[in-house]
Amino acid sequence: VESLDRLIAATPEWEGPHPYRSLRARLRLQSEWVDRGARPVTLGATRGGRDLFAFRIGPSTGVATVLMAGIHALEWIGVEVLERLVAEILAQGTDREIIVVPIVNLDGFALVDDDLRTGRRAIRRATPSGVDLNRNWPTFHASATSLVTRFLPGIGGTGSGPASEPEVAGILRLLDAVVDEGRTIDRALSLHSFGRMILVPWGGRLGRPDAALFAAARAIQSAIPLWYGVRQISWWLPGHRVPGMEVDHLHARYGAVALLVECSLGGISPFRLGSWLHPFRWYNPPDPSREIEALAPALRQFVTASH
Ligand SMILES: [Zn+2]
Repeated sequence: VESLDRLIAATPEWEGPHPYRSLRARLRLQSEWVDRGARPVTLGATRGGRDLFAFRIGPSTGVATVLMAGIHALEWIGVEVLERLVAEILAQGTDREIIVVPIVNLDGFALVDDDLRTGRRAIRRATPSGVDLNRNWPTFHASATSLVTRFLPGIGGTGSGPASEPEVAGILRLLDAVVDEGRTIDRALSLHSFGRMILVPWGGRLGRPDAALFAAARAIQSAIPLWYGVRQISWWLPGHRVPGMEVDHLHARYGAVALLVECSLGGISPFRLGSWLHPFRWYNPPDPSREIEALAPALRQFVTASH
């Protein structure tokens, strides 16, 4: 917790891109989670030297869920949804452990926070050192993604090897330690933006996964009062296999029912020219509250395995 305080102190204080909170305000919120019973665990330092934290909520025995967001730097709505889920879980309790990694790409997120604070416009997805943290997981890891992605700004590569990035390696160390206690991680949820889609493994191969994954995705879909699609990642764009994704690894390595939710439709409006020009607006709706209200009950039910 001491290093969380240090991290907060080292993060610029400003009001944030209204109505979204600044990074500093989010880190403060995380320290409030600790006051309310979440157990902080450091996952080690990021490439940029920031302490990366996970927060463990609920009993430290039995089955567990992994909940993460912020793998991609501009996808703040996913982090907003995660924060709502954590607030509700802390208030209402949980029968199983929830292992929360609120902002996986902390360095990239900090850079976006800085862009917004200083009025810079940049497309950012990867870490500042150029790795897409959703291509760095060991399952189906490949040394390169498709040609196209190498020429798009801010997209990033797959890293020098499986789990080469300290963020991914740190999460895997924690999850492996849980499994080494003889426990099972049977659910995983990763929150991204945008597209209103619930994505199912596999990304790295065309074969169909266990039917339980589609069943879980459809159960969430039917509980959301907005239109969300359900797709297998590798079948979404035919012939486009995606190497090294978090959901593939969480499913293959731990057997978790692992789902990726692309939250919201983003924030581009044909009536507001400014929304076309600002990358932050591509990924994040101007008012996140409606999406959060719609998603939270369905996602909380999945994460806590309650009915
Ligand atoms: Zn994403």
